[in-house]
Amino acid sequence: MRSEAKERQNPGKYTRNVWFTDKDDNQALSIRYTGEVLFDKQSDFQKVKVLDTYAYGKMLTIDNMIMCTEKDETHYHEMIAHPAMLTHGNAKNILVIGGGDGGTIRELLKHSSVEKVTMVEIDEAVVEASKLHLPQLSSAFGHEKLDLIIGDGIKFVEDAAAGSYDIIIVDGSDPVGPAEGLFTNKFYQDCNKALNDNGILVAQGESPMFNEQVFVELNHALKGVFGKEAVHCFTFSIPTYPTGIWSFQMATKGGAHPTKNFDADKSAAFAESNNLNYYNEGIHTAAFALPTFIKKKLNA
Ligand code: SAM
Repeated sequence: MRSEAKERQNPGKYTRNVWFTDKDDNQALSIRYTGEVLFDKQSDFQKVKVLDTYAYGKMLTIDNMIMCTEKDETHYHEMIAHPAMLTHGNAKNILVIGGGDGGTIRELLKHSSVEKVTMVEIDEAVVEASKLHLPQLSSAFGHEKLDLIIGDGIKFVEDAAAGSYDIIIVDGSDPVGPAEGLFTNKFYQDCNKALNDNGILVAQGESPMFNEQVFVELNHALKGVFGKEAVHCFTFSIPTYPTGIWSFQMATKGGAHPTKNFDADKSAAFAESNNLNYYNEGIHTAAFALPTFIKKKLNA
């Protein structure tokens, strides 16, 4: 329903005409909000804000880019966590790089196989913003299996002992500022070394229709490190990211395949018992079926 009509139905409730705009060179996405900025901090790394929107709940932004909203964050966080977890089947020791809002660890910790999640987030302000204003996202920060480290994930992986992790999840922002190094060959070589023989890596892969060059380069970098057959791109829809379609890249060691080595019944039971919002066994398989235009870009 358009906001003018909502205002007629609820006089006084939708009165502020203030818009947040996530603006890129050639396109922009605007979300109407109350005008209230709940959190606003310039950290050593970036500008972190939480706004109260009309249609998407509370929204976290970093350097004026939308990171997540309460309404559609499950699309991102369920898809960054569950396809890898259910492909692996028995992941115990997990490393998350970034992910300061807490959504990714919340999803990982739903798996009973998990013994420990180490999360390395460079910016404490993101964790603070989420703890203060985004309880839906930050609910797992007190979990006994979580080891939260405030520090540089790039350095952490460089120093990690070989073969330490079953799964590494790179939940980083766009390749600017502290996240730039999360898109380099060297970083993924270090991740490969830190994974054990059956380890799986998932990385935030940008949009195939926006930041196309980064999307393709990341896929190629991972193929260079893990091998061509070991890298699997998958996509999901998310209305509050530029273009509405976003990707993750999965790289597997030890030959696991995300759709062949996958127990659909186990996935369905997991999704149902955890009352998931986006992920299910059908989405798991469908997400890896890429539109032709994306295949062409990756194979060019
Ligand atoms: N959902 C978001 C998106 O794609 O728009 C990404 C999640 S956001 C919470 C990414 C997080 O990565 C930020 O909190 C940022 O501080 C963190 N980050 C960026 N570079 C990092 C680094 N080098 N080490 C650890 N965390 C990093």
